[in-house]
Amino acid sequence: MNCPSCLSATTKEQNKKTSLGYRTFRCSICQHTFNERSGTPFNFLEYPTDIVLLVVLW
Ligand SMILES: [Zn+2]
Repeated sequence: MNCPSCLSATTKEQNKKTSLGYRTFRCSICQHTFNERSGTPFNFLEYPTDIVLLVVLW
């Protein structure tokens, strides 16, 4: 997964997950940590993306 901060592809998956269960990554270049939802329009939501999509569908 590419770093949303410096766009580097040299990122490493971390052992811990976010409170919503998303995988977290650390960039080897800028040491920025982010999760797999960082940089998407859904990151500010406090609900999992699939739940939000279900609600929108309804
Ligand atoms: Zn970076």
